[in-house]
Amino acid sequence: MKKVELHQHVDGSIPVDMTWRLMKKHRLHPVATKREMERLLVLQEGEEGALLRYLDKFHYPQWITQFYENIARVVVAIVEEAHQNNVTLLELRYAPIIHTYAGLTLRQTISAVLTGMNRAKKKYPIEMGLIVIAMRQQGPHIARILARQAVSEAQHFHERTGVIGFDVAGAERGNPARLFKESFEIARVGKLGLTIHAGEDEGPEAIWEAVDVLGVHRIGHGCSAVKDKSLLRRLAKDKVLVECCFTSNYQTGAVAFGAPHPILTFLEYGIPVAICTDNTTVSNTSQNKENQKLSQWLSKEQLLTIHEQARGFSFIRPERRMNLRPINPKLADNRRGK
Ligand SMILES: [Zn+2]
Repeated sequence: MKKVELHQHVDGSIPVDMTWRLMKKHRLHPVATKREMERLLVLQEGEEGALLRYLDKFHYPQWITQFYENIARVVVAIVEEAHQNNVTLLELRYAPIIHTYAGLTLRQTISAVLTGMNRAKKKYPIEMGLIVIAMRQQGPHIARILARQAVSEAQHFHERTGVIGFDVAGAERGNPARLFKESFEIARVGKLGLTIHAGEDEGPEAIWEAVDVLGVHRIGHGCSAVKDKSLLRRLAKDKVLVECCFTSNYQTGAVAFGAPHPILTFLEYGIPVAICTDNTTVSNTSQNKENQKLSQWLSKEQLLTIHEQARGFSFIRPERRMNLRPINPKLADNRRGK
């Protein structure tokens, strides 16, 4: 089954083996074996149910992803795994600002991911694009700067893979969506797709605000929408796609253990959805595993339809979609004017 991935973070999806190799190369590894390293990178049994324990897993990858070449390499490794899961359209997302600690500029951190994607494109027939994330806790001013950086690397300005969307993520409480109105406006004028992490740690009002004030095209997680029927009807009416991350939602506590996953309610209401991994490494998941888990409730045909429909909600601009089958990489390069 061909799959579409619309919500996957670079930092939480670096294969353990790649992190371990780069850690060893730079002599940064905090533990003696790869198995021990894995426990630090992947959420373990007994650690589920709290967002903070989940976020703890993102510290070590940042030790290596402060350097241009490392960033490009981890992206190639992530794309390779996606390809192994039969993903044919991949939107990765990434917060540039947390990759500037060693001196890379914001623009360089974005460009590093795109370099990785362009390298991967020569090997795997996957449509790709990058969503730039601003972190809520760093405030609206930084978010505006990031939105401008995102636009400057936008796909439609370049003859290669580029930035396709803008997202705000991080601590929802105390950082309401409305504060980020201007940054979303910059992204909208710059013709980027708009999405936001909302309703993961806050109630339905956070999703209302994202839809009404920011005018987003998609919502990341959106779990708390199930508490508000008029919101559900609104999402269906305006065709706001919800990027659903089944495994991650139980691990972070966004959905309580034993409670049905919101994706089933979304489908009942006719809301467009996407099946997403969020973080393949931290969540110990993959596109195959997510679809496998959902097959308890959804038939293969239904899963197939979800992926087909999700493709239509991709931020990769349709006219820029290139179904590259790299039979002859040189030829493909020429066509892209390199
Ligand atoms: Zn996410």
